Amino acid sequence: MGALIGKAQDELAALLAGYGEPAFRSRQLAEWIYRKRARSFDEMTNLPQALRQRLTEGHAVRSMTPEAERTSGDGATKHTMRLGDDRVIECVHLPYPERVSVCLSSQVGCPVGCAFCATGLGGFERNLTAGEMVEQFLWMQDLHSNRRISHAVFMGMGEPLLNVANVIKAANILRSEVQVSARNLTISTVGIVPGIYELAAARLPVGLAISLHAPDDAVRSALIPTARRWPISEILSAARHYRSETGRDVTYEYILLSGVNDTVDHARRLADLLHGERGSVNLIPYNPVAGLSSFSTSSAEQVAAFRGELQRRGLAVTQRMRRGRGAAGACGQLAGRTTGRRSTRMPGAARRA
Ligand code: SAH
Ligand code: SF4
Repeated sequence: MGALIGKAQDELAALLAGYGEPAFRSRQLAEWIYRKRARSFDEMTNLPQALRQRLTEGHAVRSMTPEAERTSGDGATKHTMRLGDDRVIECVHLPYPERVSVCLSSQVGCPVGCAFCATGLGGFERNLTAGEMVEQFLWMQDLHSNRRISHAVFMGMGEPLLNVANVIKAANILRSEVQVSARNLTISTVGIVPGIYELAAARLPVGLAISLHAPDDAVRSALIPTARRWPISEILSAARHYRSETGRDVTYEYILLSGVNDTVDHARRLADLLHGERGSVNLIPYNPVAGLSSFSTSSAEQVAAFRGELQRRGLAVTQRMRRGRGAAGACGQLAGRTTGRRSTRMPGAARRA
């Protein structure tokens, strides 16, 4: 039984036309699904009883079930969601004083396999559908209904630009149906160059965050398997193209790994690399991952020295707080225990213990 969530207005219209219903019913149906967050057709009181019955027989509204949740001291709540095929993903609710954000997953697992990432450790199972991405947002709003969610970041499990068509569709639905401003949506990518061009062509214009994590291809390749396929120079030109197409500046994410990429010399070279790129750098403290003993978190002094060097050289720098550390685990390093089996990885992906 297919869920209707994730269907765009024209797809709902086509479905209803098949039932002989007038076009305005699709607007009503979309409003119930996305704005009023109905979970059953019974709630859709302005639809005729016969239509509700017919929809109930052939379809479901949603497809996933919330399972566990853990809130950490800073108020971030990590949720585990069970999908229709019994696979499990995670998403995070992140309340801030001035806004509320959610961190959404785009895949079950991730085929990239970065050396420092809990998601990559478990291998890849499948892409999420657009509906499963929108549904994470709606569940987060249902489960934390006291404040309106204004922002969403695609920084949960998976690499959004390896599932770019579904991510674009989800972003379009979040924008047009759920009415989240495109400016408040951010897609984070490890640097899948063709995906950046495809996203630019969609002209949404959502924010783009690029996980750079290194000032050169040698350091980067040791951390990120796809770095061998798409060198930094190609990523930076794709970012320039993205900026010129969408008018949005790009954020460069940089996870600080003690002794690996966090020295003042790395900072100096990063500043040289990004000189004139009009993007800011977001420094992320490494969150230790069970099973990955090869990395450790940079000290506060090292982070300050790194940050100071970037700023001295004129770069705009922000620093990610350790949101959700502890009880909930951080956004951007979700493990999502599933079946426990390792599966397909991208060619060249490093195997880790
Ligand atoms: N695949 C995308 C988006 C999901 S990961 C990407 O890589 O950008 C979201 C962010 O979390 C990325 O910047 C990623 O590098 C970061 N991240 C992954 N593992 C982490 C860890 N153990 N500690 C801190 N940040 C981590
Ligand atoms: Fe995938 Fe991003 Fe994790 Fe790399 S950091 S393995 S791309 S989720």
